Amino acid sequence: MSESTNQDQASKGEVHLVHLYPRQMSIYGDLGNTRAMAARLRWHGYTPVVHDHHPGAQWPEQAHLVLGGGGQDSGQVRVQEDLDAQADRLRELANDGVPMLMICGMYQLMGKAFITVEGKRLPGLGILDVTTQGNATRMIGPVVLETEFGTVVGYENHSGSTVLGEGQAAFGKVLHGNGNNPEDGDEGARTNNVIGSYLHGPILPANPALADSLLEIAAIRATGSWLPNEIDDSIATQAHQRQVTRLTDR
Ligand code: GLN
Repeated sequence: MSESTNQDQASKGEVHLVHLYPRQMSIYGDLGNTRAMAARLRWHGYTPVVHDHHPGAQWPEQAHLVLGGGGQDSGQVRVQEDLDAQADRLRELANDGVPMLMICGMYQLMGKAFITVEGKRLPGLGILDVTTQGNATRMIGPVVLETEFGTVVGYENHSGSTVLGEGQAAFGKVLHGNGNNPEDGDEGARTNNVIGSYLHGPILPANPALADSLLEIAAIRATGSWLPNEIDDSIATQAHQRQVTRLTDR
């Protein structure tokens, strides 16, 4: 057996990913975020363990990274009861620094509340100090952000307009698109290592720097260190840069 084959086989350790509600909350390809993370972990030499968490199921024993996607308002209603049951656990994990990436509908439910266009109030976990109000018109289209992870590209499609509470950090500044709402130029929210964002795409394959930043935190929590391999991201980087150039003057 060649040395490189040996190296391929020696895992740097298991990293446990929890995907919240893949059936109800995984619209517009958000499941791709979990697949991208599992693939990148393998390329970096780690062993990903993916736990799909469905309503009513037992919470997995380990969670080093939690991912959640978008869904329709009706999907958000369907996960409400389980989210309520997991609320304390998710708040503890968030306080403890576990990285989480919550897109669109799950972003809204990480906030204080989402009030649907019909006026139904869905309480959120309050991990992010944001409040969302559904509207008759949707915000749809490609988005470019400036974030601390560099430029981030994605695609938004939401009726909810989100407002940050005082002192709540945004995930990024909008260079193109709407973001949280058409007015204030903020996109998403970030507290500790919890990121909420409206960006589908899915967001992680198109933004490898963001993906690896979250994996670094997860791998250190899981194994005590982050020993990444060199990954060829040239195609992702080209696609990313094309969207930046097409939509902004950068
Ligand atoms: N309730 C959401 C909205 O504002 C859901 C959108 C989504 O998750 N894509 O439309």
